[in-house]
Amino acid sequence: MRIVLMGPPGAGKGTQAVSLASQLGIPHISTGDIFRSNVSAETELGLLAKKYMDAGEYVPDTVTNEMVKHRLAQSDAAAGFLLDGYPRTVAQVAELDAILQKLGSKVDLVIELTVDIDEVVSRLVQRAAQQGRTDDSEDVIRRRLEVYGEQTAPLIEAYRARGLLKAVDGMGEIEQVRARLNQLVAS
Ligand code: ADP
Repeated sequence: MRIVLMGPPGAGKGTQAVSLASQLGIPHISTGDIFRSNVSAETELGLLAKKYMDAGEYVPDTVTNEMVKHRLAQSDAAAGFLLDGYPRTVAQVAELDAILQKLGSKVDLVIELTVDIDEVVSRLVQRAAQQGRTDDSEDVIRRRLEVYGEQTAPLIEAYRARGLLKAVDGMGEIEQVRARLNQLVAS
């Protein structure tokens, strides 16, 4: 199964993606995690990405696309994957299609995790306090939600038009949301 998981920052994508991918036995590929590990390791990619991430902006498509292309070509992704945080722009959708077409596959399912925006802001503020993420200050949180609405929300409509989209209610306890997701992929 080739799955894309979408939803605004703070929707709980990361948490749910980890368990869903392990349930399905496919790798969880998070562009945010890959960027963060590059930032920690102070790689060239990390140094470049950090200034965008800290401002709540997207890393440029050329950089992100190249990174994802490389990751999807690895053997563990051949039989399926769960993409978390990618694609996030119209150009990334086109690139993902092209990457998969070359590999002889395609996206099977796009899951939208839906949440209410007040809930999202309070989750992010809480996470900032717990994890000390430098991209979680209140101004940056607001900017990330704005960027999501401008650049990423339209992708949901594009995937819906292709008949690939399924929405899952992301509100409630982690376990409840997990059960909803498991039920969706089992059906
Ligand atoms: P969240 O889901 O909380 O927004 P992520 O961990 O997915 O956070 O991503 C953190 C940051 O990494 C983003 O704000 C952005 O700067 C960068 N990033 C992650 N994925 C992408 C992407 N597909 N395109 C551009 N930038 C990305």
